[in-house]
Amino acid sequence: MRPSILTVNAGSSSLRFAIYEAGEEPRLCSSGKVDRIDPNGFAGATDALQDWLGRQPSARSIVAVGHRVVHGMKRSEPERVTARLLKDLRRIRAYDPDHLPNEITLIETLLRHYPEWMPVACFDTAFHHAMPSAARLLPLPRRYIDKGIVRYGFHGLSYSYLMEELRRLDPRAANGRLILAHLGNGASIAAVHRGKPMDTSMSFTSAAGLVMGTRAGDIDPGLLRFFMRTGGMSVERFDEMITRKSGLLGLSGTTADVRDLLAKENHDPHAAEALEVFCYQARKWIGSFAAVLGGIDTLVFTAGIGENAPEIRRRICQGLGFLGIELDQRRNTRNAAVISRNESRVTVRVIRTNEEIVIARYVSRMLRKG
Ligand code: ADP
Repeated sequence: MRPSILTVNAGSSSLRFAIYEAGEEPRLCSSGKVDRIDPNGFAGATDALQDWLGRQPSARSIVAVGHRVVHGMKRSEPERVTARLLKDLRRIRAYDPDHLPNEITLIETLLRHYPEWMPVACFDTAFHHAMPSAARLLPLPRRYIDKGIVRYGFHGLSYSYLMEELRRLDPRAANGRLILAHLGNGASIAAVHRGKPMDTSMSFTSAAGLVMGTRAGDIDPGLLRFFMRTGGMSVERFDEMITRKSGLLGLSGTTADVRDLLAKENHDPHAAEALEVFCYQARKWIGSFAAVLGGIDTLVFTAGIGENAPEIRRRICQGLGFLGIELDQRRNTRNAAVISRNESRVTVRVIRTNEEIVIARYVSRMLRKG
């Protein structure tokens, strides 16, 4: 049996895992998922992972485990987990209380039970680390910037996958002016030029940017003071409101799920408004990143909504003809790989993202290097 790699991806309410045979191009052996994890029940999910591992014949050949880690601060590359890295991650727990504590728990649990597996951390922030300073700096007092309070950006493993796919599909396009739209429950958008990250919508935390399933995205910072002073709202409740009760869920009052919203928008005006705001904001971000890039050559949609919701893609792209974006509605409806018209100046693509294989490739490479 060839050595294999376990990949683990701990979200705020889900845990995804897979086993890959290591190699130049890692081969998927098996995968699994625990969904709808209660915020206080993450330990149960790690138990489920261990049960699953016990049933996988390929688990016996695991030699390394690649963890998706949301925040890596200034790190630009995946890193072998050391005591020092773990200490750093514990120190920045508060940067992302929805993801980091779960990810740290998972790293520690697997280290305890499988000390012979080499643990590797693959950071979602790494993709963006070379952003120009104008995009990276938040206009705060200098002392906070010196402490690392800057724009980091997220969904980096997904963006890395899109870049690798583009390089394979169309190397010239991969080197051009790109806008990558990762539209899932969490949503962000990134601008890339000549393969380099130029800007992204998420910031110091993943709460920023686009309207999301339950996150508000960018809002007026003055709202914090307003809610605290007039409604006596605590910081915890404010945070809960803007990260778990806003976005599509907040606006519709019923659901964060785009499928459900599309099904009921005709008889539910709030559902219709939620989708309208989502598409409007996405279009606005694409326009602003086109300005950042001085035009756009390729637009890529990915993740749950980006890959599967032609109607949302159509509405986002509507009115972007002035940038050279013209969809072919038949291709769009089929979720084809290229959904723009042949005459469209901008090539619009749908790419199914795969964060797991990106992790497996990184770890494979580290194994090869020894
Ligand atoms: P996460 O950020 O949790 O990984 P996903 O990438 O799975 O999220 O995206 C979830 C979103 O994708 C949900 O809003 C869901 O409604 C939407 N979605 C998935 N499939 C479809 C579909 N066929 N049509 C419209 N929306 C879809």
